[in-house]
Amino acid sequence: MIQGSRRPLVVGNWKMHGTLAEARDRALRLKASAGGLACDVVLAPPAVHLSAVVEALDGSAIAVAGQDASAFEKGAHTGEISAAMLADLGCTHVLLGHSECRAAHGDTDAVVVQKVKMALAAGLVPVVCVGETLQERETGCTAAVVRRQAQAVLTALDVADVPRLLLAYEPVWAIGTGRQATPAQAQEVHALLRECVAAVAAAVSASMRILYGGSVKAGNAAELMGMPDVDGVLVGGASLDASEFLAICAAAR
Ligand code: PEP
Repeated sequence: MIQGSRRPLVVGNWKMHGTLAEARDRALRLKASAGGLACDVVLAPPAVHLSAVVEALDGSAIAVAGQDASAFEKGAHTGEISAAMLADLGCTHVLLGHSECRAAHGDTDAVVVQKVKMALAAGLVPVVCVGETLQERETGCTAAVVRRQAQAVLTALDVADVPRLLLAYEPVWAIGTGRQATPAQAQEVHALLRECVAAVAAAVSASMRILYGGSVKAGNAAELMGMPDVDGVLVGGASLDASEFLAICAAAR
């Protein structure tokens, strides 16, 4: 996978679903059908299924991501998984700042920054998720919230590390709700995010991949990925169905 190219990228976030056998079967099915796609593909299975999925995908171009990683390097942090452990298992990417982690685990911007630094130190590509709640959108705060979340990470890094990131705009009100942002709403925020990248690393902004996530399905993926600043999608629920996920991948051009 070439970091720094705007080839479309489709990421499947399997969240906390399914058995080990289902994870392995889904990975094998995707591997068998993924040849010839016009996009890069990354799968984020539950942590306990990572090894099996990495093994199942051996020899394919599909990459594997952790769904989260610790803000700490190592030590007495019961229940946590370090970025280095994910890399050691064969992961190349990690989702960070997902709204479910921000809401359920209290991941503040500062914590997300720390996690991004750990991920980069471990050689992983952090997929940094940002997005506003419904209340924030309805009170006209979308731009301010998304800018704050993105700038927290972008300004905390060495400029040389900025091209190693991926950004994902995931409006919280669209995640798992069946209500996706319109292509125009997504484009508006993606353009804003590209401006945030340009403000810290002008040369990088044109090549930074910015994904959209939130109730993406086969039926809306092409329209979303057809927007000029939408470089791929981050798919939750619909990624659990291999046929649907492959149809989303096929929508990438
Ligand atoms: C997600 O979990 O990142 C997500 C976008 O979920 P869904 O596609 O189910 O809305």
